Amino acid sequence: MVDEKTYTLIDGRKIATQIKEEITQRVQELKQEEKKIPHLAIILVGDDGASQTYVDHKVKACKEVGFHYTMMRFADTISEDKLLKHIDQVNKDSDVDGFIVQLPLPAHISVEKITEHIRPEKDVDGFTNRNFGSIVSKNPLLMPATPLGVMELLKRYNVDTEGKNCVVVGASRLVGAPLSMMLVEQGRATVTVCHKYTKDLKSFTRQADILIVAVGKPGLITEEMVKEGAVVIDVGTTRVEGSQFKNGYAIKGDVDFKNVAPKCSMITPVPGGVGPMTIASLLLNTLRATELRNP
Ligand code: NAP
Repeated sequence: MVDEKTYTLIDGRKIATQIKEEITQRVQELKQEEKKIPHLAIILVGDDGASQTYVDHKVKACKEVGFHYTMMRFADTISEDKLLKHIDQVNKDSDVDGFIVQLPLPAHISVEKITEHIRPEKDVDGFTNRNFGSIVSKNPLLMPATPLGVMELLKRYNVDTEGKNCVVVGASRLVGAPLSMMLVEQGRATVTVCHKYTKDLKSFTRQADILIVAVGKPGLITEEMVKEGAVVIDVGTTRVEGSQFKNGYAIKGDVDFKNVAPKCSMITPVPGGVGPMTIASLLLNTLRATELRNP
């Protein structure tokens, strides 16, 4: 007997490619209109392998859509003060429309201090308090990239969020917290946020029409925790080592995909779900920052 899939796989790679094609088209139009071409600057501190890979992907994406980009690398011994001065320079550089400081930073540098030093209009990661707060304003500015990617996936797969029961597992400043606000503000959903101290997690997740998990614990969400027909978005990405994997490791989500997927109406895979959307959102934000600054 052939196993037939009863669920729709939410293909983040496909949607991210579509978004990149739309942005490429917009860059062509900007050229024809002799308008400013988006310019993204990327600051990388230290030589963490994973950060280098993320940054390489961001540079590649800029090249693909025709954005200008500048890479700025600093040794992990750079002082916080010196890094702040470099950020001042990028803030003032009128040619740079958006910039990001790749995280994590070395322990002697305060992430909050660095993030808050970025001009909100250029904060294309959407990390500053001003951009975070603007989620609940009438005029949202630049939205945090990963939550924006999740919202975009839901929209492009026609998942109606209005009045739906959404459960977000994970309440971090970068993902869970802003996403829950976006689901309320833009998605008009009824949202429950669960975290490490939530008692009886299953009693909440089982109520979810839309379940979004951003924790970083592979296999946290099992079959009995999910309602029949739910839409499940797995943001988790954890590198799991093991000789059974082709490269000695595999990237795992928070959801036990094999057993949960047959219960769902739609589900994201890991990898290939939310991951590609984060870079697509960064490009969308950079384009938006450029057009806001150069109407
Ligand atoms: P984080 O800062 O470590 O936050 C994790 C959140 O999960 C916290 O709110 C924590 O609760 C909560 N939590 C921990 N254990 C829990 C449990 N047993 N049950 C319920 N909640 C629990 O991580 P993050 O930056 O939000 O990232 C979460 C995951 O998403 C990670 O795997 C990360 O790699 C991935 N991620 C992927 C992308 C992408 O592009 N695909 C982007 C960003 C992040 P407390 O607040 O109480 O500690």
